[in-house]
Amino acid sequence: MRIAVVQESRPGETRVALVPDLVAKLTGLGYEVGVEPGAGAQAGFADEEYAEAGAALVDGLLPGADVVVSVNPLAPDRLRQLRSGAATVSFLPVAASHDLVGDLRDLGVTSFAMELVPRISRAQSMDALSSQALVSGYRGAVVAAGLLRRFFPLNMTAAGTVQPAQVVVLGAGVAGLQAIATCKRLGAVVQAYDVRAAAAEEIRSVGAKAIDLQLETLEGTGGYAREMTEDRATQQKQALAPYIAAADALITTAAVPGRRAPLLVTREMVEAMPPGSVVVDLAAETGGNVEGSVPGKVVRIGHAQVWGGDNVPSQMPGPASRLYATNVVNLLTLMTHEGAFAPDLDDEVVAGACVTHQGRILHEPTREAIE
Ligand code: NAD
Repeated sequence: MRIAVVQESRPGETRVALVPDLVAKLTGLGYEVGVEPGAGAQAGFADEEYAEAGAALVDGLLPGADVVVSVNPLAPDRLRQLRSGAATVSFLPVAASHDLVGDLRDLGVTSFAMELVPRISRAQSMDALSSQALVSGYRGAVVAAGLLRRFFPLNMTAAGTVQPAQVVVLGAGVAGLQAIATCKRLGAVVQAYDVRAAAAEEIRSVGAKAIDLQLETLEGTGGYAREMTEDRATQQKQALAPYIAAADALITTAAVPGRRAPLLVTREMVEAMPPGSVVVDLAAETGGNVEGSVPGKVVRIGHAQVWGGDNVPSQMPGPASRLYATNVVNLLTLMTHEGAFAPDLDDEVVAGACVTHQGRILHEPTREAIE
């Protein structure tokens, strides 16, 4: 059976869904692996490396492919080249991709969305949301340190003492915890806040102080946060304002599954930050945690430079691709039986990730929204 690794078509995308080191895992499972020439170039992986690892470098892979792996979903014109019964494995933001999901159904393509892999212990090695959030969190911290016109760590020198930077992190999921840990390693003093009660212990475990706003916590289902009411949001903003006004760097990572990112920080709150301060909004693409942040741009609000994240994992394409590819290969391994691609839809991980199969939409919320 043939696996095709395609060149990504989303503007600005630099990642690739398979790295040369992992080709042997797939050939070992019994697949032939085809890679579109240049697919790994922007992530730093040359065609020759794929070829040496046992992949075939050929154009026009789609019509003969049994499984297509990519980071982003295939563009509609490329999707139409697939045969009925072929499968795709990629990120597939179903809530924002109704037309595409309809096409996948109508073309008889079996599609799997990496963001729908259930976040249970058994599927941790396939959890691409976590692996890419790890990259974003690290990158966000390093960007904040790079933009800040002062030291992150304490320095005690003969010329005097330089105080460490004060950092506030909002949202302490996978990206937030990685941002905290990275800022700590760089020597900053870090405080963090999350609406989930369990997050306080996790914040402390990576060396930061957990901010306690004395507000109701907001646990949703599956270990995620619940959306705030307007009243709760106002209280949270008021309570957070003094912490943000005292911060040299603010990093925001808050998200609620399936919703626009919550607005946590108003323009006025940023305007109260000190001269030379920095804001990194890792949620800018999904609506923004910070009023006025723009994805992919640095804007000035008051004294602060406000950096809006835009496909942040693509800024570290080598490691992001390697982590993503590991997640994909682990999911493919689960769906391979006796050398053939044979997804077992009775397996909760496989069923959870499956969006369309044999002309039907299996992901219930999407089916209800579309049909
Ligand atoms: P996410 O990207 O959906 O959200 C990021 C963070 O924003 C979350 O911690 C959330 O609580 C927080 N948040 C939401 N609204 C907020 C607000 N108004 N103010 C402040 N913070 C707010 O979440 P994620 O990083 O993907 O993961 C969240 C949870 O899932 C964590 O508990 C994580 O440990 C858990 N998780 C479990 C597994 C697993 O068991 N395999 C894997 C990954 C993550």
